[in-house]
Amino acid sequence: MRTGNLYIISGPSGTGKGTLVQELLSRVPDIWVSVSATTRPPRPGEIEGVHYFFKSVSEFDELIENDGLLEWAEVHGNRYGTPIAAVRDMMDKGAQVILEIDPQGAMQVLARIPESRLVFIKPPSFEELRRRLEGRGSETPEQIELRLRTAEIEMKFEGKYDVVVNNDDVHRATNEIVAFIDSCANDKKEA
Ligand code: 5GP
Repeated sequence: MRTGNLYIISGPSGTGKGTLVQELLSRVPDIWVSVSATTRPPRPGEIEGVHYFFKSVSEFDELIENDGLLEWAEVHGNRYGTPIAAVRDMMDKGAQVILEIDPQGAMQVLARIPESRLVFIKPPSFEELRRRLEGRGSETPEQIELRLRTAEIEMKFEGKYDVVVNNDDVHRATNEIVAFIDSCANDKKEA
């Protein structure tokens, strides 16, 4: 069995991170994707424990107080965090562990686990990002503007990532990430 690693995938909302992670599930046999906790209400079709663990603000506070989170951050006015126990367990089992989290969270994980590998997903352009956000129809115009403003801030973190993948084509972008995972899985990063 090859060595497990911790991979952080970040990128502005609407860049297609979710689709890429779905593709990775069928391409990387020893992959495990963390399920985050959030105070954001579920969108239609989202399932508890599959897409997120949906929490009240006080439940989220409790997770923080009990050191239950590897990292957490406020994104677009809601809180999101990575439950630590499952990540530890799957790392011990040697899985390729994936966290799909924002750059603030990514920097916290990197500080705690310096051998983490960071993958930044870029939209082909800002105009394309707007088009995708408007096209998916799950946010109000105000929420879209907020996500675009956050995107501008998040793009500034690009240089802190090990690899930057332009998601102009899902198939090609997936291939790039799979190749990166394959190259890391047998080659421990110097902390
Ligand atoms: P959404 O509300 O669209 O599902 O997610 C919004 C943003 O929250 C995404 O950009 C995603 O990367 C980020 N996010 C999701 N889970 C986590 C988490 O556990 N921690 C942090 N820091 N960010 C997260």
